Parts: sequence; structure tokens; C-alpha cells
Amino acid sequence: MTLRTNFRHFLDEEGKVLALTEQAKIVFKFLSKIVLSVSENIEHPLIQLDVKCNTRATALTCEGSIEATCSAFDTIDWHCDSCEASGTISNWYGSQWDRQARILH
Ligand SMILES: [Zn+2]
Repeated sequence: MTLRTNFRHFLDEEGKVLALTEQAKIVFKFLSKIVLSVSENIEHPLIQLDVKCNTRATALTCEGSIEATCSAFDTIDWHCDSCEASGTISNWYGSQWDRQARILH
């Protein structure tokens, strides 16, 4: 099962996080960690993240870690190294979690 997410759906027009449900907050925290790490390591083809699979929702037991790639412009593909969990994150580019912006002068 692939979880396709649009990062902008969690943000308002000013790029701030919307008032989210508890479940959406957990998902957003998971996604924002991925965006931070991937944008910091954008030149790497496959990025091992310090993000556990079981932090993407409540009541998950998978101890796997998340790996991610930035395959296409503005889309991150992530997957768990231990189970079938995977997903994409689009529209993260230029958000406050995009660390690339801090490297550009
Ligand atoms: Zn997993």
C-alpha cells in the first residue's frame, strides 16, 4: 500500500501547519521529518532516515527504519526497510521544512 501525500494539504496559505486531527498530526510529524532529512541530503540517491516505521501512525509495531529518495522534482519516495510500507510526498519544495533553502544564498 502506498501512502500518497501532498505536503501542502497540511499547510495554510502562509505555509503554517493547519489545525490537524490527532491522527493527522502524527502523520504530519512523520512526513516533516522525512522532508527535513531528504532536503538536507538531497544529493544522495538513497537516504537512510532516523525515522522509525512505527511512528507513522499509532499502534504500529514495525521496528524498521525509513529510507527515502527524491526521484522526481518535488516528490519524495519513501519506504520501510522491513515491511511493505511506502509512500510519496509531493509539494514539500520551498516549505519551512525544506532545508535546501538555507544552503542557497
Ligand atoms: Zn515497516
